[in-house]
Amino acid sequence: MLVWENYSHSPMNNIVPEFVEFLPTTLEEGKLYISMKYCTAVHLCACGCGKRVVTPLQPSGWSLSFDGLVTLRPSIGNFEYPCMSHYFITNNEIQWLPKEIVMKGNKKKKTKKRKKLKFKRKFPFLSIG
Ligand SMILES: [Zn+2]
Repeated sequence: MLVWENYSHSPMNNIVPEFVEFLPTTLEEGKLYISMKYCTAVHLCACGCGKRVVTPLQPSGWSLSFDGLVTLRPSIGNFEYPCMSHYFITNNEIQWLPKEIVMKGNKKKKTKKRKKLKFKRKFPFLSIG
């Protein structure tokens, strides 16, 4: 389920790339720290909550393109944080996305049900109790 909700902090509209060798321990808001050496980018959550968001730059992680402006793909979804921010970084701009509400506990049940239904449809001659 996707819902639009107001973010409790003041969300940022843009982020500036900063190429570094080592990732600094204190991060500034509105900056995307990129370490080519460690193939990692890190920034503070764009909602302003101050949470550190680490995005490994690798085939199974994020890909970063830079042509003077920075673009990060796929989207950044901080669903493990209370703010549950969800946004794209495109050409230094933060594009806010709807928060994805993960229904805890319900999700598994639903998938199970769906699978069962599929199974039934595929094998109507089998009775599933
Ligand atoms: Zn946040």
